[in-house]
Amino acid sequence: VNDRVICSGCGIKIQTADPEGLGFTPPSALERDIVICQRCFRLKHYNDIQDVSLTDDDFLKILNQLGKKDALIVKVVDIFDFDGSWLPGLHRFAGKNPILLIGNKMDILPKSVKRPKLIQWMKRASKEYGLKPVDVHLMSAETGEGVLEAADLIEHFRKNKDVYIVGSTNVGKSTFINRLLKEFGADEELMITTSNIPGTTLDMIDIPLDDGSSLFDTPGIINHHQIAHLLDKKELKLISPRKEIKPKVFQLQQEQTLYVAGLARLDFVQGDGQSFVCYFSNEIHIHRTKLEKADELYRNHLGEMLAPPAAENAAAFPELVKHEWKIGSEKQDVIFSGLGWITIHGSGAKIRAHAPKGVHVGVRPSIF
Ligand code: GDP
Repeated sequence: VNDRVICSGCGIKIQTADPEGLGFTPPSALERDIVICQRCFRLKHYNDIQDVSLTDDDFLKILNQLGKKDALIVKVVDIFDFDGSWLPGLHRFAGKNPILLIGNKMDILPKSVKRPKLIQWMKRASKEYGLKPVDVHLMSAETGEGVLEAADLIEHFRKNKDVYIVGSTNVGKSTFINRLLKEFGADEELMITTSNIPGTTLDMIDIPLDDGSSLFDTPGIINHHQIAHLLDKKELKLISPRKEIKPKVFQLQQEQTLYVAGLARLDFVQGDGQSFVCYFSNEIHIHRTKLEKADELYRNHLGEMLAPPAAENAAAFPELVKHEWKIGSEKQDVIFSGLGWITIHGSGAKIRAHAPKGVHVGVRPSIF
């Protein structure tokens, strides 16, 4: 594409190579008199915001701008992947601006989870990350539960100022904003424009609010420690929970192993027999085996009994890396970023988690 072709909607440089990237336009659309990028096209014609991913550098540029504004920042996290979708450091860039924390996708957590307890947990976890949100809210952008309350909270805390919605990719930002658009003014008069951040080529969607302020949708940042980057679309669909999760409980003795499909593994190395509660997409098969047989099982059955990864992707799948912990007396969750977690009752259990190289694994005080 000629370097000088820019989108007449947002001013970004047009490209035809990367459909997921900023400024993408199908080559056929270049024939038209007025060229606009696919994101602006969809926004204009379908009132539909598509997510666009940024590199770390670009995201830092956005964050740097946020501190200079006088605005409400709405940070959206995926409560099923709280740590993986967190965006560490946001509070340092936000300056004095208030941050409203919204946990999305609450529809996939088991109904038995008590909301107030989860909110308490989110407040504690935020504090550990150094963030003190003005409020914490739960919603499901998909089912609409809690979305109107989220809108009310935004209205309450913004005090006639602009609003910036931030979050890593896949937290449900676009779904949330599309729902807000439908609730509040998908009428044709609503003019949505994109505005450039000075000094960069990054655009944000600018949605006017009725008092002259704006709601800005910032593109999402890719989180490199999530397992999503190792999987193809079909595999990703399978591991992403779509419905309420049914926890699977395993009563384990020491020297037993659980495989989470072929994507991760947890060894119960030593300790008293106890239950291991698995929170993953209902489609993911958990396979129990003896620790001494576990390596061989993986070598011989990755891509079949242990799938995903699918057979054709098994050879290229990164090797599993080990992490070891001794669990104290409190209940802990062993988290596999982007995949789910396993709750262990503790009492001095020695455990070893295995996850693909690059995927974040950690333990945290149990969420439930
Ligand atoms: P974005 O990258 O942050 O803009 O996220 P999207 O809005 O594109 O959503 C990412 C994926 O999560 C999509 O498959 C959505 O359908 C799904 N999703 C978004 N919100 C929810 C929700 O509240 N519950 C569930 N179960 N899925 C959701």
